Formats: sequence, structure tokens, C-alpha cells
Amino acid sequence: PYDVLIVGGGPAGAAAAVYAARKGIRTGVAAERFGGQVNDTLAIENYISVLETDGPKFAAALEAHVKAYDVDVMNLQRADKLVPAAEPGGLIEVQLASGATLKSKTVILSTGARWRNVNVPGEQEYKNKGVAYCPHCDGPLFKGKDVAVIGGGNSGVEAAIDLAGVVRHVTVFEFMPELKADAVLVKKLKSLPNVTVHTHAQTMEITGADGKVNGLRYKDRKTEAEHLVPLQGVFVQIGLVPNTEWLKGTVELSRFGEVVVDAKGATSVPGVFAAGDCTTVPFKQIVIAAGDGAKAALGAFDALMRMPVG
Ligand code: FAD
Repeated sequence: PYDVLIVGGGPAGAAAAVYAARKGIRTGVAAERFGGQVNDTLAIENYISVLETDGPKFAAALEAHVKAYDVDVMNLQRADKLVPAAEPGGLIEVQLASGATLKSKTVILSTGARWRNVNVPGEQEYKNKGVAYCPHCDGPLFKGKDVAVIGGGNSGVEAAIDLAGVVRHVTVFEFMPELKADAVLVKKLKSLPNVTVHTHAQTMEITGADGKVNGLRYKDRKTEAEHLVPLQGVFVQIGLVPNTEWLKGTVELSRFGEVVVDAKGATSVPGVFAAGDCTTVPFKQIVIAAGDGAKAALGAFDALMRMPVG
């Protein structure tokens, strides 16, 4: 069995692995996709001390750092179930989709998050055929075209500002009466000549033809009138969903599905810690996830020291 088993190989899991391994304890990392969301990121300019890098480079550096230590890296492994220890100080089980079961004295959950779907007709059908989630990755594909951004929170407005510099025109659709993004972002957005904002706007359908997006149908919630805006791309920016479905009923989750953690990263289950985007820790960022992973590893080490001998 492991002393520390980390589930998830993004910045949080990688940092946890390095911190755990440096304590000389048996450390394993099981990850569905090592690197996590960073793999889908283009430029990273806010990881302190690294002026600029890109996602794939950063992900490779995470993996290299982890592999510099004696860590069992199990990539392409999805965890399906967590079984708490039968008695205090007993072994915790993590069951993998492959059928294997891993055992460990402590576990760190760092399964991150993913973009939320808008769940309207056309979204699934036209995914990667005009429906996108990552402006940094897919923005350039829409150069000279008209696109929509669904969502007027920080991520939506940031995406719209970003895309406005790349595409011909951006239309922002916000369900609520007002954009929810920070005032400075909204001000910036409204200063741009090629952006239109629709508030009170409920997206009804992403339309398409010949296997490509050709428009977005929305309902004006004030007038109940429906309108069709012709465009070639739709960026869905309505938040992140934590990858914690598999933990439901085992570990305490917030109403958003985030693993509830204390200041040391401990969860409601003894010996189980959590870090990064899958937790209640606010602000989902690389540097925060990494710091959080380090914290959870130290929390797990602290718990190991206190476990009864033999
Ligand atoms: P993740 O990176 O989500 O990693 C989760 C890990 O868990 C992955 O390895 C995943 O495969 C694995 N996993 C999930 N479920 C399971 C399971 N059941 N079993 C096993 N493994 C599982 N942040 C910044 O600071 N700067 C930026 O410029 C920036 N740009 C971004 C751009 C994009 C397009 C995206 C998507 C995010 C960006 N972020 C940025 C946010 C940043 O990527 C995240 O905050 C950070 O990656 C979170 O790290 P994490 O380790 O908590 O989770």
C-alpha cells in the first residue's frame, strides 16, 4: 500500500506528489490525464517566477518534476470509487475504472474541474464544429468570423474581450439582467467596437447546417420574443464543474459539488485530503492549485505521523 495516494495529476496533484515524495514516503499518483486542464491552456503568464510559458510545456514540466522523485505515476487511470478505511488508521481504497484497486494510508483528491455545458439542442452535436469552451485554444479558428459567448460572468466577459481581438464580431448572451463580471472587465468590454451584449437572454438552441454551427437562437426574457443571430462559433463560458461525481455520498461536498476542505486540506473522511479546483478553495488558478496541493501533502504527512504504529 501507499502512504499517500494522489488522485488527479494537474498542478494540485503534481505539487502534492513532489511534497509527499520529498518526505520519503511511498507516493502514488493516479490520473486520467496527467497535466489536467493545463493541457488545454495556451499562454500562462501568471505562474509566479515564470514570466511566460504555455500549457503543454507547463504540463511536461509538472510531469518531469514529479518523475524526478520516486513516485508511482499511473497515467490514463480514472478513479471510480473511494472506500474509507474500515477503522481509524486503516487502509483507504481507491477503485479504478480499469478494475484495479489501490490502497493507501492517506489519499489526496485533486481531480480538478471541467467546463459547464449549457445543455441546449446543438451543443453536443456541434462540439468542436463551432461549439468551443476554450478561447485560448480555439479562438484563432474563428478569425474573421462572428462568434457568441454564452455567459456574462468573469470567464465569459474575459473570453469576449479576448475573442474581440481575434474574430470579427462577438455577441455576449447573459441570462440575468446584468453582466456579472467585475466592473473593470465590463467597462473594457463595452469599450470594444465589435461586441454586442444581450442581457435577459436565454439561449434556446445552437443551430447549424452541413455539420457546422450557423447561429444561436435565444429568447429575450423580457419580451418572450425569440431571435436568431447568425454566427459561426459559440463559446460556452458558464463556469466550471468539479470532477467529484464519483465522491458523492462518501465525502462531504458543497452545493456546487466541491469537496469541502479545512485549512490543512482535510476532508470529512479521516485520512482523505483534497486540493485544487475540485475543492471549496476559492479562485481556480494554477498557482493556487499548486500551493493547495503542497498544503494537502503536508496535511497528509501530518496525519501519517499521528497514525498509531503497527
Ligand atoms: P486540473 O488541472 O483540472 O487537474 C485534474 C486532474 O485530475 C487531471 O489529471 C485529471 O485527468 C484528473 N482526474 C479528474 N477526474 C479523475 C478521476 N476520477 N480519476 C483520476 N483522475 C481524475 N490558471 C492560471 O493560473 N492561469 C491561466 O492562464 C489559466 N488558463 C486556463 C485556460 C484554460 C483553457 C483552462 C481550462 C484553465 C486555465 N486555468 C488557468 C485554470 C487552471 O488550469 C486550473 O486552475 C488548474 O489546472 C487546476 O489544477 P487542479 O490540479 O486542481 O485540476
